[in-house]
Amino acid sequence: MSTHRSPFDRLRQKYDRSDSECRQCGYHDTDDGWDVTTSGDRIHYQFVCPVCDAVETRELRLE
Ligand SMILES: [Zn+2]
Repeated sequence: MSTHRSPFDRLRQKYDRSDSECRQCGYHDTDDGWDVTTSGDRIHYQFVCPVCDAVETRELRLE
């Protein structure tokens, strides 16, 4: 038995499981994780630090 997973699902899982950490102040967020948005073949991850308002972003391109 196998469950089909798209590249998008795999990437989401990868990032959903990783904690958000602010590079500016070192704040470590284990609750909210990343906001995920998609546009075309790209996935954007954004995390806004509640302490210093720094914005961490990742952008992944689907193969
Ligand atoms: Zn911060």
